[in-house]
Amino acid sequence: MATTADSSGPSAGGVVNSWERDSFIGVDIGGTKVAAGVVNDKGEIRRRSKSPMSTHETAAEGVRSVVATIDLVLENDPELKRSLRGIGICSPGPLDPRTGVIINPPNLPCWRNFPLAQEIGRIYGVPVKVDNDANAAALAEGIWGAGRGYQNVFFAIIGTGVGTGLLFDRAIYYGRTGAAAEGGHMSLDYKGPRCGCGKLGCAEALLAGPAIARRAQAKLASDQKSAMLELAGGNIDQVTSEMVGQAYSAGDAVAREVLMETVELLAVWLGNIVDLLEPDVMILGGGASAMLQPLFGEVRDRLPRWCVNTRCQEIPIVGANYGNDAGIAGGAALVAQLVQQS
Ligand SMILES: [Zn+2]
Repeated sequence: MATTADSSGPSAGGVVNSWERDSFIGVDIGGTKVAAGVVNDKGEIRRRSKSPMSTHETAAEGVRSVVATIDLVLENDPELKRSLRGIGICSPGPLDPRTGVIINPPNLPCWRNFPLAQEIGRIYGVPVKVDNDANAAALAEGIWGAGRGYQNVFFAIIGTGVGTGLLFDRAIYYGRTGAAAEGGHMSLDYKGPRCGCGKLGCAEALLAGPAIARRAQAKLASDQKSAMLELAGGNIDQVTSEMVGQAYSAGDAVAREVLMETVELLAVWLGNIVDLLEPDVMILGGGASAMLQPLFGEVRDRLPRWCVNTRCQEIPIVGANYGNDAGIAGGAALVAQLVQQS
């Protein structure tokens, strides 16, 4: 994979690099690549870069991947370097968000108890924060996105897995050791399918994209009259959650059945969330959420059956503002909040 950078600054008046008072760099570390972006104090992403992530070499090699990606977005812009107030990094966990130490992520074997925040801070001389992607993305939505103006936010990314983040009084809630807000691993069915975490019937095992695809595949095994099968080239095993969404949009009855079950499960989960937390807003991001967004009204209609809160339907259920850029915006939000507090 090539290392790439693109500049998408504003073109109005020909001013490309007119940075606001403060700018932040958000870094999104994945299992194969690392992305970085410059974010201004309004939460707008102005530049992006992407490089391969060296995950299986030494700790220093891993750091070099991150530094190369950051250097790429800073390249040839002294003004930007002067306005840089901090760097925030989303990394796979487990990690300690308070110390910025990466503990032992299975897909980042290069780092074991590695002080990533300290290392990157030493190189760039600015504050550095590290957190998992769901916490960070929740904060970006709270400061700049769909949660703006709300005090208490429930945020979920529903994609290939389910990650959640909680904002109480506009700050990330961490729990005793930083391990709180694993809402994707709340069990909704103790006899349900086994989740990747080992538990049975987790929200992730029932609501994530692969779970939606599995339900569709099971239905197709007995009812073959569906556009999903055509989309998958006649091979049931190839049916994906995206195909369920496409077939639903085209009026397919089997796809509708699959999505209505998903909507019901989402109502069960969010009903529990409302009864426990009564947040001011519930924000759903990620690919599967985007597919389900036309059905959020349906989720709200079903909520009272799964919730004792008589005012549960007053709580907005909305899509996230940041899509694929959630990691970059989230990383930036972690340090933007530090600056705003100081
Ligand atoms: Zn689980």
